[in-house]
Amino acid sequence: MLKYSNPLSIKANRESGGLVFRNPKTGLFYVSTPILDGLHSFNFSLVPRPAGIEIVGAYHSHGDYGLEDSTRTDKAGSEYNDDSFSDADKSLAEGDAIGSVMYLGTPSGALRRYDGATHQDTRIN
Ligand SMILES: [Zn+2]
Repeated sequence: MLKYSNPLSIKANRESGGLVFRNPKTGLFYVSTPILDGLHSFNFSLVPRPAGIEIVGAYHSHGDYGLEDSTRTDKAGSEYNDDSFSDADKSLAEGDAIGSVMYLGTPSGALRRYDGATHQDTRIN
């Protein structure tokens, strides 16, 4: 899903994201379609949560490099560390609100995975 949503997030210069679900009866995994949210934030409570389905993880993209006022920049000019998980991203994966794994799309195009149980941050593409 990040391969689809990350370019859209960069183009819109907004964060986008969704949740990863598992049906406990079948073991099958599902992912929600991306929702666009803030310039430098994504609120996972925006994502609908089907009844009877486990939330096992979440994904989001950071949009483009830029300034707090939404002016786009190159990587060097960005006021944010958009190519990395924020402390808030890691805290979400370490808590119990969105499952234990967070996936991230970055302005560089790199996709990352953070495991809240092991604290491992891995590039996945
Ligand atoms: Zn983030």
